[in-house]
This record gives sequence, structure tokens and C-alpha cells, in this order.
Amino acid sequence: MPEFRFCPVCAGQLEMKKREDKVRLVCNKCGYVLYRNSKPCTAVLVENDGKVMLTRRGIEPYKDWWDLPGGFLENGEAPDEGAKRELLEETGMEIEVVELLDIKIDEYGDMGIYTLNFHYLAKPLGGEIRPKSDVIEIGWFSPGEIPDNVAFENCRLALENWKKRKLN
Ligand SMILES: [Zn+2]
Repeated sequence: MPEFRFCPVCAGQLEMKKREDKVRLVCNKCGYVLYRNSKPCTAVLVENDGKVMLTRRGIEPYKDWWDLPGGFLENGEAPDEGAKRELLEETGMEIEVVELLDIKIDEYGDMGIYTLNFHYLAKPLGGEIRPKSDVIEIGWFSPGEIPDNVAFENCRLALENWKKRKLN
């Protein structure tokens, strides 16, 4: 994967160094350690009349594939607040977050960027619902109708969890 080369503090060179048994990027000038974390994301399973809402992606990766609405959290944003914001941005829908379904690690693209995905169950409250932002279509699917082309492993796992709940 592309690695950072310069220190964000002093612009010195970053070097791979061993720190407490792990190899980290460390600045050779000021000693700053660049810690890497999985990026926090939310995805939402909005349910209505026994069906879950999926959104079709208008952008890469996975352009044209179905997806759970959601996205990357902003700095300092609570995951459930991020869920509400993303739904509004992508579909115009206002939601009530019902509960946390699960949390899954995944990889975004093929550049070694890992994501920490909070999956929420939610119900629609209203709004002017239409595809917005990077979404090109909105669809509703019963447990037996989930399409094969769902983007991202973590979304497929969340939908499997949802299906199990619905069928039990
Ligand atoms: Zn530095």
C-alpha cells in the first residue's frame, strides 16, 4: 500500500521502526509515531414492512452494485449521528436508529485501508426520499430477495445477520 513518507508534525522523514514489538512509521527528526487505525464507518439497515433498504452505488469502488447506505464518520462524530447524517445525505430519509446490529472489520478498495463498520437497524421517520449524492437507485428487499451483487463483505455479513433474525 502507499505509505506516508513525511512526518505530519515536522515534515521529517518517516521510517519503519520497531516499537513495543510492532513495526511503526516513526519520524527520524522529532520521533512522532504515526499510529494507523481502521477507519470508523456506519451503515444502516432501514427496515419497513419486513423489507430492508439498499442503495445502488454511482461511484467506484463497486460502481452499480447494491450497498447499505452509510459512510465514513466525521472527526468526533458519534456513530449513530453519522448514520442519521449519511441517510439524509444519500436518500433524503430521516430515520430513527433502533439498535446496533453488529460491528465488522472490512477492507475498503485495494490499498490496505481498513474500516470498522457499525451496522445499525433503523426505521424510516419521513423526509423527501430520492437517490442523492453517490446513490443512483433506492430499492427495498425482503430476506429472500437480497441481490447477489451487494458491495463490501461487511455489508453482506450484516445482511446475513438481518436475514437470520427475520427468519427466526
Ligand atoms: Zn517529525
